[in-house]
Amino acid sequence: MDSKTLQTPIEYLKGVGPGRADLLKTELGIHRFQDLLQFFPFRYIDKSRFYKIAELQDSSAEVQIIGKITNVRTVPMKRGKRLVAEFEDDTGSIELVWFRGHKWILENLKIDAPYVIFGKLNYFNGSFSMPHPEIEELEKAKTKAQIKLQPVYPSTEKMSKRGISNRVISTLIFGLLEQSKTFQETLPNNVMSDLKLLSKTEALHNVHFPQSAELLGKAQFRLKFEEFFYIQLQLLRKNAVHKIKIKGFTFQQVGDYFNTFYKSVLPFELTNAQKRVLKEIRKDLGSNAQMNRLLQGDVGSGKTIVALMTMLMAIDNGYQACLMAPTEILATQHYEGLKELCDPIGVEVELLTGSTKKKDRKVLHERLQNGTLHILIGTHALIEDTVQFKNLGLAVIDEQHRFGVAQRAKLWKKNSLPPHVLVMTATPIPRTLAMSLYGDLDVSIIDELPPGRKAIKTVHRYDSNRLKVFKFIKDEIDKGRQVYIVYPLIEESANFDYKDLMDGYASIEREFPKPKYQISIVHGKMKPEDKAYEMERFVQGKTQIMVATTVIEVGVNVPNASLMIIESAERFGLSQLHQLRGRVGRGAEQSYCVLITGKKLSSDGKTRMETMTATNDGFEIAEVDLKLRGPGNLMGTQQSGVLDLKIADLVKDNQILKTARSYAHHVINADPNFQLVEHKMINLTYRALFKDKTIWNYIS
Ligand code: ADP
Ligand code: MG
Repeated sequence: MDSKTLQTPIEYLKGVGPGRADLLKTELGIHRFQDLLQFFPFRYIDKSRFYKIAELQDSSAEVQIIGKITNVRTVPMKRGKRLVAEFEDDTGSIELVWFRGHKWILENLKIDAPYVIFGKLNYFNGSFSMPHPEIEELEKAKTKAQIKLQPVYPSTEKMSKRGISNRVISTLIFGLLEQSKTFQETLPNNVMSDLKLLSKTEALHNVHFPQSAELLGKAQFRLKFEEFFYIQLQLLRKNAVHKIKIKGFTFQQVGDYFNTFYKSVLPFELTNAQKRVLKEIRKDLGSNAQMNRLLQGDVGSGKTIVALMTMLMAIDNGYQACLMAPTEILATQHYEGLKELCDPIGVEVELLTGSTKKKDRKVLHERLQNGTLHILIGTHALIEDTVQFKNLGLAVIDEQHRFGVAQRAKLWKKNSLPPHVLVMTATPIPRTLAMSLYGDLDVSIIDELPPGRKAIKTVHRYDSNRLKVFKFIKDEIDKGRQVYIVYPLIEESANFDYKDLMDGYASIEREFPKPKYQISIVHGKMKPEDKAYEMERFVQGKTQIMVATTVIEVGVNVPNASLMIIESAERFGLSQLHQLRGRVGRGAEQSYCVLITGKKLSSDGKTRMETMTATNDGFEIAEVDLKLRGPGNLMGTQQSGVLDLKIADLVKDNQILKTARSYAHHVINADPNFQLVEHKMINLTYRALFKDKTIWNYIS
């Protein structure tokens, strides 16, 4: 079937018609022949194997058994009755159960005749049973050429109600495959032979109606590979085009500011990871293309200093730099920390947030435009149109998942050429995912913590142990430490019986009375100046306890705070828990994190608590998170089209992804526009695939 025929509207397929076509479109997004071919089974019923009763293990497995019925009886139930047949082979027996259709079964079943049965197992009170089995006489079954692996397609409630059963779908697809027989190849010859891939035709036939488990595996491999290959081609191509087209400022030199800072101000030795990342950045900035780099590093890995030194490179070359943070608290902290480091070398730094006074703003705007201000730190207030730089050369964005594409784009327009962009995140995105998600960004990773850090000890406690936790808090405070207590909610919500912040605050106040204890509180509904005031008291050590919602999640740095209590921890996702925990463990003291939950935990909830207590490694945690929630729920991945995969799975098929990416690399490096004869097929397929989609459908 050629690519044109594949575009035929689905109502023209035999057996479909307007009514069914409507359902296929609205329920499954199947509009054309092509969509139906790419509507893949999500599992297969395996009739290739016969089980012996003695080998049965899993309840709810689907199994096929040969045996005979030895007796049938009816068993009364509260309402009605059920029919139970004893079914045995030479290794044991199980019960077959029917709740309806008794008459037909009683009339047709033969005692002691050999049958093949197939169905889902139940396990109860030490024995297996099979409700409503498919049942067929062995002799008859033998005469049929059985399809061993039967496809099971995704369905919806509406479809089943309207009679579009699995059988209907598979018949439609069978018809389509019969009608067309062969399909145009969509992968180049060398790839096909290198990887010994099935042809497109064989793959499509076998993915829907496998001739054997082996061929099914090969079919799936080929189709997954193809899916990844074209998405990777698109991502890499965009990256390549981007590098060619978008010119950036060239920072020729590493100058005095940088060198003086490095020699006489930098208070510690950089880690090897920090050095490596700085080199990567230096290389970008020295080329004549705009840098778009994602800097990943676990909480506390020291991204800020890398950001500062990058900004110094800009200033050394006569440019200005800005640093954008997602919250006012964080921006203020960055400002205070960086100002201290910049003052000794005469680099001018200012802060701009929503609460900057009008008259201060005016001065600030002037200094930005006459170039006497080198670094501007702020919230998204700094991307407003009124903020104009004399010569912005670099924009650093902290915690990028809080900012959208539009905001990034606004930064780009702050100078005649777009400034270099360094995006920092402590939300570790598993490497493999990062490379598929951010094909347009280069990725640097700080995978090493500064020396001397003590690993944070994490424990999980139930509500009922709260008093002991309070005692522990008091002990830590007596040692001079400070404590965070974090709550998930700001107000009582009728639907949840979770501890809410205010309630918690009241009980904390009772437990930790003034004047011995001083408590700060910060939450999202407070005015920025009140938040800043409370935060400041905590930073200065005037309060020992900080009661807060997740607003403190990102970036805040109070080295003396060594204890993090997270209330209703089951309500937080893994990456959020990890972020919160990262607020402690920043000083020299042993730090702790206590996760408090109710007694009843979902199995995911349990896994999350176990993961948190088992490891401090953000990447490991991100991998678990990815497995628990799927990539669609990871921060920053929502709008990304790479998740709209038809057959491949980013997590499970990681190896295939890597292979596909490396082949895609070869193609793009040799021939980014697919002009070569041997890439003709790629060219055609690529165009057909991405015809009505822009890259923005694929990348957030
Ligand atoms: P994050 O990557 O979470 O933003 P920060 O940049 O806030 O981490 O760094 C955390 C702390 O570690 C800061 O107090 C910082 O001064 C310190 N730090 C950073 N790099 C080093 C290093 N190489 N050696 C020692 N301390 C470091
Ligand atoms: Mg940080």
